[in-house]
Amino acid sequence: MDAPIPMLDLAAQRARLGGRIEAAIARVLEHGAFIMGPEVMALEEELSAYCGAQHVVTCANGTDALVLVMMAENIGPGDAVFVPSFTFVATAEAVALRGATPVFVDVEAETFNISVASLESAVKVAVDAGLQPRGVIAVDLFGLPADYDSLRAICIKYGLLLVADAAQSFGASYNNRRVGTLADYTTTSFFPSKPLGCYGDGGAVLVDDPASAGRLRSLRVHGKGVGKYDNICVGLNSRLDTIQASVLREKLTVLDEEIDRRNQIADAYRESLSESLGKPQTMINRRSAWAQFTVISPTIEVRQLLTERLATHGVEFGIYYPKPLHLQSGYRTFPTAPDGTLQSVQLSQTVLSIPIHPYLQNDQIRRICRSMDLS
Ligand SMILES: *Cc1c(COP(=O)(O)O)cnc(C)c1O
Repeated sequence: MDAPIPMLDLAAQRARLGGRIEAAIARVLEHGAFIMGPEVMALEEELSAYCGAQHVVTCANGTDALVLVMMAENIGPGDAVFVPSFTFVATAEAVALRGATPVFVDVEAETFNISVASLESAVKVAVDAGLQPRGVIAVDLFGLPADYDSLRAICIKYGLLLVADAAQSFGASYNNRRVGTLADYTTTSFFPSKPLGCYGDGGAVLVDDPASAGRLRSLRVHGKGVGKYDNICVGLNSRLDTIQASVLREKLTVLDEEIDRRNQIADAYRESLSESLGKPQTMINRRSAWAQFTVISPTIEVRQLLTERLATHGVEFGIYYPKPLHLQSGYRTFPTAPDGTLQSVQLSQTVLSIPIHPYLQNDQIRRICRSMDLS
């Protein structure tokens, strides 16, 4: 049998960087500033220059990034924050952790992202339930930016804060603007499998408003004031390690080329994969970071067949996500959009993600397409 094809090939990326990551880590070992060392500040400036956000506040992980935003905006009990039901749990978890109420909204099957129509109906549900609508967390699922123009219009209409959960989309763009500048706050994750990943946990909040950035910088270090032992509010310990920052600085230099390659692979898949599979569409005004390439099977049985074929051919795959959040036992009690969350349920039964990492070879792409041939 041919060698297995993994979802992710971090070894190939490390080899391509030719010892630069090892050298960067070695420099941190030498200077010893493991917490808030110079690489952390340098990375924040480089990320800001890359995406165009005025301020970048790195933190311990992408979930904390969302929690920090909720804290910075004083979102808490009695407040409603609208989140898609078809996403990773962290999006809703950050809201619930603050004692606020996540309200689940359906997604569009074409983009996997939050449905604007469903969002508007969910606002009424929250008001009827006596909650104060405060914000929307749009998720750029699988790397594709959500429809920020339409979302912004709804947020203005109802006075809502717009937060982008860009854990999967750092490096993507919408109307030629990079993710990081599309919402009031953008959060991202540097978990190893994300488009820009480190060698452990990491995250960041991207924001233009200087006062918000100041609050976030205080919150990530125990609510510090002028010094560490001056505590002006209740915060967290949520800093990005210097070693992780040093790794990210090296990887950032190849992110654009990696995203170009992911786009090429997505094109190849769209051309070659079986006609009967739903494929993610390209949108004229959006460029995906392609964290995942996710097809939609016509039925749950076809998905089962495809997973068996892929396993036989040694191709790794993922099912993101097998259960929408409004059906999870930890989250079932929270409200959902009145028209239901039909697409979220349907997608959870039919989606299948296949390898799209930038070091995938053309012959591997052909092998994956062959193993998924339904004709
Ligand atoms: C990965 C992810 C997160 C959380 O990031 P962590 O760094 O793992 O905490 C949040 N939202 C989405 C959509 C994600 O994919």
